Amino acid sequence: MGKLQMTPDLLRSLLQGTAEAVIAQAEHLTALDQAIGDGDHGINMKRGLQNVLADLDNITAKPPAEALKAVGMTMVMKVGGASGPLYGTLAMTLGKEWPTDDELDSSKLGQILAVSIEALKKRGKADLGAKTMLDVLAPVQQALEANKSIAEISVIAQQAAEATIPMKATRGRASFLGDRSIGHMDPGAYSSALIIQTICQLLEEKS
Ligand SMILES: [Mg+2]
Repeated sequence: MGKLQMTPDLLRSLLQGTAEAVIAQAEHLTALDQAIGDGDHGINMKRGLQNVLADLDNITAKPPAEALKAVGMTMVMKVGGASGPLYGTLAMTLGKEWPTDDELDSSKLGQILAVSIEALKKRGKADLGAKTMLDVLAPVQQALEANKSIAEISVIAQQAAEATIPMKATRGRASFLGDRSIGHMDPGAYSSALIIQTICQLLEEKS
């Protein structure tokens, strides 16, 4: 991935595009969560992101770093379950670590995501291989560090979500199922991959 200047307009289109893509898949997220969780992932993500969309003018009037923190706060305050605090932590940490000149490249974005992954591990008391969103975010972070192309990153995110299917959950509600969690994609891994793939697609359309 090459250099990228994050403008308020670009951030707005990325936020709107990813929120709409996730909301459009809410039923699928629910179905995935019904298989190994409590079935609330779709409705939770939809509620949080509808609040983000409703407040998009205010959010994107702020500089990108502050806008990301505001998205994170919205997710934490409006969403129950695990997904609000986790996606909220992700967005807030991205905002905290954001470069002051809003200039990103693969290695800078990799650094920011690395710090965010550490914050998520703490928040969720989870590590890699526990069948969570971390199993998508970590390979994407490595791909950024390795300066992979946007197209490659998109494929890596999708493959990483698929790779959670044979995993046994050891964190979250799915872990109560033990071996019966094997054979299902993790809903958080799916929503993370969907967000990353949507961002990749929007960035490619704009380049
Ligand atoms: Mg759930």
